[in-house]
Amino acid sequence: MILPWQTQVWEDLVKRQQTAGLPHALMFTGISGIGKHQLSLYTAEWLLCQRAKTESLSQPCGSCHSCQLWKAGSHPDFMICQPEDNSRQIRIDSIRKVNEFLAQTPQISHCQVVILKPVEVMNTNAANALLKTLEEPAGESFLLLEAERFGSVLPTIRSRCQRLQLQAPTEAEALAWLQQQGVNDTDAHSALRYNPGAPLAAKRWLEQDAGSQQQAWVNQFRQWTLDAAPLEQLVSAWNKLEIEDVIHWFNTALADALKTQLGVTSEQLVYQQLLPELLSGAMLDSSKLITLQRKVQEVQGNLMSGVSHYNKQLLLESLLLDWQATIRRHPVS
Ligand SMILES: [Zn+2]
Repeated sequence: MILPWQTQVWEDLVKRQQTAGLPHALMFTGISGIGKHQLSLYTAEWLLCQRAKTESLSQPCGSCHSCQLWKAGSHPDFMICQPEDNSRQIRIDSIRKVNEFLAQTPQISHCQVVILKPVEVMNTNAANALLKTLEEPAGESFLLLEAERFGSVLPTIRSRCQRLQLQAPTEAEALAWLQQQGVNDTDAHSALRYNPGAPLAAKRWLEQDAGSQQQAWVNQFRQWTLDAAPLEQLVSAWNKLEIEDVIHWFNTALADALKTQLGVTSEQLVYQQLLPELLSGAMLDSSKLITLQRKVQEVQGNLMSGVSHYNKQLLLESLLLDWQATIRRHPVS
């Protein structure tokens, strides 16, 4: 299924394939939770469909041998390459498997398709091993790559792919989609507030009950900032959580703090229950806040590319002390 906010992108993609043909390597980019993977899967299914090509269909037929194998999850001309064995990175061995796969000829379909995701986590050796395949495709094959941060993708890879930038849906589209999925209005609104522009992330967030975890996180942060709890207690609580979540939530809180400095009303803040109270009487140092946000985003990028091994406790302590240093005067309680 094509997500409602991707219909135009899909039509363009079909048109290109049916006229000039799609490029051998196509990179879908965009923020997490907007449906990059859904689109690349659908594209793969359609490219592999035996009737779609011969009959110029704009969607997979759903009934040919290829489509049946696709549904069964056992299509011999399709492969997904992603980090394996709890690793955060895509290593050279995985890319070698891709190269070997593409060196064969298609068994069922007109072509072979490989989805590689996320591109940012390929280490340099892996990326180098992929270059030749990107440059000299063997036979008819398609590489569909997915990336959240196009800027973090190695330039050698970037320059050999065509980029398809996917946009986030509007709030109305995101709400409508969530409601279609059976999410009630209140939940849909609150899930989107924590996952702006990312309905699929919002849905996961609800399914995993991430809201209550995040609420607890906000409360701990609030207690400490208001001097009601010691730093050790906060760090120890945060230390038990997934570092990616903590960093993401912290980054969102910083964005809220910056917005507050710019006079944005509390309804437009993600942590509206936390920050107005916290910041209404507080004087924050904007430049320190911006520096801290850059630092947090750098950490986020490193975590996403799977290259860095942080000492979680030290990292959290350092970020929190930086946050404390942005507060020039505590809120009047
Ligand atoms: Zn088919």
